Amino acid sequence: MAERRKLIAGNWKMNGLKADGLDLASSLAGRLNGAGAVPFDMLVCPPFPLLFPVGEAIKGSPLALGGQDCSFKTSGAHTGDVSPVMLKDAGCAFVILGHSERRADHGESDALVAAKAKAAHAEGLVAIICVGETEAQRDAGQAESVVAGQLAGSLPEGANASNTVIAYEPVWAIGTGKTATPDDVRAMHAHIRAELGKALSDAGAVRVLYGGSVKPSNAAELMAVENVDGALVGGASLKAEDFWAIAAACR
Ligand code: PEP
Repeated sequence: MAERRKLIAGNWKMNGLKADGLDLASSLAGRLNGAGAVPFDMLVCPPFPLLFPVGEAIKGSPLALGGQDCSFKTSGAHTGDVSPVMLKDAGCAFVILGHSERRADHGESDALVAAKAKAAHAEGLVAIICVGETEAQRDAGQAESVVAGQLAGSLPEGANASNTVIAYEPVWAIGTGKTATPDDVRAMHAHIRAELGKALSDAGAVRVLYGGSVKPSNAAELMAVENVDGALVGGASLKAEDFWAIAAACR
């Protein structure tokens, strides 16, 4: 089986001001610097205004920086948008795309997510493409077909294990305190890997993260599930101690 190093990614969403972001990021960078060799990569994705100061604060540490979204354009008359070139300039190596909150709040389609991922790849950014079913879709027995459709529509041409990470985030588990059971996660991650195999030649090397109310108390169990290559963490990524404890659960 391909070696896949775990990725522990923090999605800060629309939380925190400059002082909070600097405290959190500096604490994580300090822990990483002091920890020596660890079996995971760690990433923080602050809100856009915090990217430059946080990027400066963690420069030289193994803590990676990412955006929470980007435009599919590189520059120009697109008020309110942020381009992948700008993310790169701020020190980002990653960008989260197609998060369910953006799909719901901004009507983002699979095609738009694919266009954004293509633009991100062109700048050398790793796209973390989010997929996941709603509770109604799961109850209707459609979870696997919904996720297969999102994957097929959201993966751009040229996607591979070096420039793409998938995050499986069941919508009903995000920010709700509910988590998918390890059995459900195992089944869905195996399904995702099989679907990736239809589209990518190096599907076995693509990292597939789980996201949805991951916290220190359930991280070890979830991170031990086959084909789970890390976590995308929202709420629990806002406290250095909790986020670090989730990462420390990786073996
Ligand atoms: C997320 O926003 O990607 C997420 C998984 O949030 P939470 O961990 O708070 O459920």
